[in-house]
Amino acid sequence: MSVPPHFHKDFTQQEPIPETAISAAVSVMRSGKLHRYNAAPGEKSQAALLEEEFAAYMGKKYCLALSSCGSAMYIALKSLGISSQDTVLCNAYTLAPVPGAIQNSGATIELVEITPQCTIDLKDLERKAARTKARFLLLSHMRGHMADMVQITTICQKYGLTLIEDCAHTMGARWNGTKSGSFGHMACFSTQTYKHINSGEGGLLVTDDAQAMARAIIYSGSYMLYATHSAAPPAEAFALARYHTPNYSSRMDNLRAAVLRPQLETLDTQCMRWNERYQTIETLLSEIPTIHCIKRPPEEFYVGSSIQFSLPQASPAQVKAFLAQCEELGVHIKWFGNKEPVGFTSAYHSWHYLPHIPQLLQTDHILSTMCDLRIPLTFSLDDCRSVAAAIAYVAGNTLNA
Ligand SMILES: *Cc1c(COP(=O)(O)O)cnc(C)c1O
Repeated sequence: MSVPPHFHKDFTQQEPIPETAISAAVSVMRSGKLHRYNAAPGEKSQAALLEEEFAAYMGKKYCLALSSCGSAMYIALKSLGISSQDTVLCNAYTLAPVPGAIQNSGATIELVEITPQCTIDLKDLERKAARTKARFLLLSHMRGHMADMVQITTICQKYGLTLIEDCAHTMGARWNGTKSGSFGHMACFSTQTYKHINSGEGGLLVTDDAQAMARAIIYSGSYMLYATHSAAPPAEAFALARYHTPNYSSRMDNLRAAVLRPQLETLDTQCMRWNERYQTIETLLSEIPTIHCIKRPPEEFYVGSSIQFSLPQASPAQVKAFLAQCEELGVHIKWFGNKEPVGFTSAYHSWHYLPHIPQLLQTDHILSTMCDLRIPLTFSLDDCRSVAAAIAYVAGNTLNA
């Protein structure tokens, strides 16, 4: 096989913000009303409209727009009454804002093993739920992989766990036809640049729980202006919360909300575009004998904004050679098996702020050969074929069949 050409596109380059969203943002700037509570009587702010539209998209009663998904997770935990006596169960394969949100809440984090499908290990979850008497499961659908949500729901009921979903990578995804984010008592989404809709930074929190949402709104920094939220519970729900809830100043502003609203309209189409790219890469990688692609369960409608695959037979030296040669060809692969945290990627070993870092042998083993590739929509299907060809070439060079 001859050396494939160097791949020149940037794996972190997202598509431009749509013109409709740019115009909406410019209107907000022309109005000077960037703060969400800077609205005339009877006028609905962009933030309030975004909340209405996302609640409708999710089929949820309430939605709150926040400054990030990390703050959404932290505020979700706080609004459910978490205390320093609590333990939160969480899958060990996730992004740093997730343990960060738990640590910020003052609770103890108990990390749970993952499976080769990149989802939480249900047996370890049950074991740890029984042992720790945790009240919460913060389930991170990391890289868009969903565990069996029916079994998750059953386990949560059995052990009295309140489920909070981290849907940073599953906005638009479904399990058995039900939207990801509909299973948990609360669900958190990110609108940060690398997720499925892009406002630079931002988060969305949804729930049907009126009391928890009332607290979340005040925590987010609503002052006593919560009545201007339209995807919110009625005033009665705030009767106690208004005196008992501190302001953590984590609001979303109108500029970001204006940028997001047109993107929400095209989200489902964008998800299909991601999946075309994902499936193009997956089909080609599946033909490489030394590479193992994750078989996605039939219940899962995923959003292929990234792809994970493993190198099952590779030694640590081979994994390193594989990653380095891919990099040389312009194919940037992330690796959670690295001992050192790099870029956006840190494995649980490097979270030294946790009071106790467990040893999760199964997770370590899985992550040691797990490769992780972003799939931005700026890649054409031909680009996806080029990426897969480069990977095939390097696999042929560095891995033994
Ligand atoms: C990005 C991400 C988050 C946090 O999102 P922010 O909006 O950046 O706080 C949470 N969970 C996962 C799995 C993520 O990738």
